[in-house]
Amino acid sequence: MSGEITAKITNNRVLKLFCDHGALLKNGHFCLTSGRHSSAYVNPDPILSEPEVLSELGFAMAQWIRDAKFIMPDTIVGPETGGAYLAQWTAWHLRSFASGNIHAVGLHKKGKKSFTISPALEQHVRGKRIFIVDDVLTSGRSIGLAADLCHKIGGEVLGAGCLLKRGEPRAPELGFYKPFFILSLAVFMLPDWRKKDCPLCKDGVPENTQYGHGAMRTQKNSR
Ligand SMILES: [Zn+2]
Repeated sequence: MSGEITAKITNNRVLKLFCDHGALLKNGHFCLTSGRHSSAYVNPDPILSEPEVLSELGFAMAQWIRDAKFIMPDTIVGPETGGAYLAQWTAWHLRSFASGNIHAVGLHKKGKKSFTISPALEQHVRGKRIFIVDDVLTSGRSIGLAADLCHKIGGEVLGAGCLLKRGEPRAPELGFYKPFFILSLAVFMLPDWRKKDCPLCKDGVPENTQYGHGAMRTQKNSR
């Protein structure tokens, strides 16, 4: 279903925003938090502190939702951290397109395997039409867990959108709710390898020590 509609913002524009703000690092040698190695690294945090960037991306998301008329939601839900920021901007722009009073709800992490919601905000999910937004899609797990929570509260999850897809959505958490589709404003599939198969290790390229697991090791060693 997601193939039927094209986002108005271009893939290159989204990637440029990520690259310009240091949220997408290419042509390096990184040890990802999963332990796998890659030549690229995505960390959306730098763009979360840039209101103009988030506004532009939230506008693009809202524009897409508006044009896909069958999914006009009551509430935009975003999982911590980036999704919660993006939910605000998406709802803000969507209000300017639609007559309804669209709300934004951020979910908080609860352990590693679930999200929670402020009791005061449940009213914006129960019996409402929900669209979930998130920053970076790797396996789709966060979106799946967010959808699970909304569903349990009594919300109808219409679909989800992410800024950047860097892996195939394969998380089992996505499977419970059908039909389900995920829009990606941009796609940048990250090649990654097991350490023993990593061509960069084989070529002796020094591993980045500022990001991912490389940074965690550096911090531990400096203590
Ligand atoms: Zn390597």
